[in-house]
Amino acid sequence: MTGTDTLVTIIGGGVHGVHLAVRLLEAELIDLSELRIIEPAGLLEEFGQKCRQCGMTEFRSPFVHHVGSDPFSLRDFARTRCREDELVPTSVGADRPTVSLFFDHAEWICDRYDLETVVLEGRATGLVNNGDAVKIETTRDRLSSRWCLLAVGHGDSLAYPEWAEDLIPTEPMTHVWDPSFDPEGIGETSTVGIVGGGITAAQLSTTLARLPGRDVVLFARSPFRVETLEANTDWMHFSSVVEKLHAHPPASRARSELVAEARHDGTIPPYVFRRLQRALEREQIELERSEITVATEAGGTVVATCRDGSAFCLNDLICATGFGSPYDGELFCNLREQSALQTDYCGSPVLDDETLRWMCRDGTLSRIAVSGAAAQQVLGPVARNVIGARRAGDLIVGFLESELDAEKREAEL
Ligand SMILES: Cc1cc2nc3c(=O)[nH]c(=O)nc-3n(C[C@H](O)[C@H](O)[C@H](O)COP(=O)(O)OP(=O)(O)OC[C@H]3O[C@@H](n4cnc5c(N)ncnc54)[C@H](O)[C@@H]3O)c2cc1C
Repeated sequence: MTGTDTLVTIIGGGVHGVHLAVRLLEAELIDLSELRIIEPAGLLEEFGQKCRQCGMTEFRSPFVHHVGSDPFSLRDFARTRCREDELVPTSVGADRPTVSLFFDHAEWICDRYDLETVVLEGRATGLVNNGDAVKIETTRDRLSSRWCLLAVGHGDSLAYPEWAEDLIPTEPMTHVWDPSFDPEGIGETSTVGIVGGGITAAQLSTTLARLPGRDVVLFARSPFRVETLEANTDWMHFSSVVEKLHAHPPASRARSELVAEARHDGTIPPYVFRRLQRALEREQIELERSEITVATEAGGTVVATCRDGSAFCLNDLICATGFGSPYDGELFCNLREQSALQTDYCGSPVLDDETLRWMCRDGTLSRIAVSGAAAQQVLGPVARNVIGARRAGDLIVGFLESELDAEKREAEL
């Protein structure tokens, strides 16, 4: 596909981008020839890589949360392939799919809709809402699209502890979500430090502790908190709790605080906690409760000194400290600086609550709609999760249906 005009361009081919594409095609709002997906890494590749990087084996969310439109499609996919044993029972709520089942089903969905054929390999770097179209700058080309759906997840925004800032380019220290991090690349007879106390730190430390010859030290400064899901299920039903959010001004500090309060960030689901507990009891993982205050690179190792005075010499130090703000990725930073799109508290986009369309500074609605983490001020704490894509799909399909209809009628006149 080349840089010619397209009706709809989706930026990002992760869970949200793929789900939005499926919804648009299924609703027959557009043909495949009118759709383009800009994605640098291949459909769902980046998300799959993250699952591998932390050694995740099963999803936290139930089997009805996936990239397709029919909630039972993944269960039926498992049944017809005799893979029901890959729906893992949970103490609360529905069974959860294994990572391989989730991705095999997602690949099957992408194949059914031929989505690979509309992928343009590249990264979007800028957008201009230009009256009747959106101009899109990419690392490959300059493109134009009537409508643009932004589904870039957290972009490249990662959270590091303050003490790590000076060490970020240093070889022995990395972030679990750094694209170059490979747990298989951790050498035998290594002492590995993992920083963090949430699901990712727990999964990564139990995965590495199982490899022979690795001594794992987990730096978790706070007590572990166990929660089944990342937010209360009320938020997943998009019930009256969302109205509480919408009572505050769009993109405001009040909305941001409500979302942060409702998210169970830094928590561990019970099945991961049990694995961690077993590894701690068997002394496969050393738990350091104090916080690292200083870390210095010394001849290919990192010396980490903690608040309680203890010090560790580590061959590898991996931060499992989560994502940064979804508004601090490269694309959102560029948009904030350059464009006529409205932003407010901490750079959050001002979105229309009914359509997820990004508001222009002049008060009009742009031709750009947002899904994923950056839509959390409209959809709440699960905006970034798989289920958030379904709700974003409802709103986006809803408004595009009437807009495309109106455009068609206008063209016929
Ligand atoms: C290890 C892990 C496990 C998780 N488990 C669950 C779970 O069990 N249940 C759940 O609901 N959620 C889970 N999540 C949350 C999860 O991130 C989301 O559900 C899902 O990946 C969000 O989809 P997304 O499309 O918004 O973002 P992503 O999946 O991150 O996709 C964004 C895509 O955009 C692309 N992109 C980024 N910038 C640009 C650009 N400038 N131009 C073009 N493309 C760009 C990226 O390459 C990427 O492919 C998990 C997250 C992680 C990291």
